[in-house]
Amino acid sequence: MDNLQEIRTCATSLGLIHTKNELETLIHTAETEESSYVTFLQNVLGSEIRYRQDKAKEKRIKEAGFPYPKYLRDFDLSFCQSITKKQLNQLSELTWIDGLYNLILSGPPGVGKTHMAIALAYHACEEGYKASYTTMQSLMQCLRTCEIDRRSKAKMNRIHKSNLLVIDEVGYLPITSTEGNLFFQLISELQEQASIIITTNKGFEEWAEFLDDAALATAILDRLSYRCDRIQMSGKSYRLENRKSFLKEGQTDDEIQ
Ligand code: ADP
Ligand code: MG
Repeated sequence: MDNLQEIRTCATSLGLIHTKNELETLIHTAETEESSYVTFLQNVLGSEIRYRQDKAKEKRIKEAGFPYPKYLRDFDLSFCQSITKKQLNQLSELTWIDGLYNLILSGPPGVGKTHMAIALAYHACEEGYKASYTTMQSLMQCLRTCEIDRRSKAKMNRIHKSNLLVIDEVGYLPITSTEGNLFFQLISELQEQASIIITTNKGFEEWAEFLDDAALATAILDRLSYRCDRIQMSGKSYRLENRKSFLKEGQTDDEIQ
């Protein structure tokens, strides 16, 4: 076995995948840059660590279950007057997750609630937090079926291990009293272990209606709002204001045909 092959075998035994795959490049760089032994070793170990961190980040993002990626840098504050630059900076610092604070983003359709929720959770994944995304509808299905369905069980396990849970579209569909009780149980369990971002089109006063139970609504809101910031995102729909169309403007019906 030649030397390089032997090093590769050692790297594999030690689980140094990046070092194994990039051995030639690492050695070539050291030779061309005439690196010292210390610098060479630093580069080998440093690049292995960066590789592992990138892999772990990718895994966290994949497992979070985002329907699509959204980024904080794409959020246009000049369009959304309800969030100040200072608030956005504070939210991006993510210390509120360490403090187990919740965030409720409420408002009409198209104002950027889902964008903001996903972008914050995505950023949290990049920064080392475990996050999970779910719509309220999918969460209800998981809560109902986790005893009998393996995928629901896995999703609930994942949620319980997360530092941050996004529950999107709360209040869009009415829920049954069993679902309401399961939801209350989940919120109570997560209270001391994770932050929750809720997006909703309903004001607090309307929760009793979609939960069909005033006492339950009060109990859930009581737990959610204990450590919580609420951002009322009002204004115009970004979708309607930036509506895209695939038909060229000014074309007559004849031209289109
Ligand atoms: P909501 O969840 O409030 O109904 P979304 O977050 O789904 O709205 O936003 C609808 C679309 O508009 C998305 O593609 C989103 O990226 C975009 N959008 C909304 N608000 C903004 C904003 N302030 N800056 C950039 N894009 C925005
Ligand atoms: Mg939405």
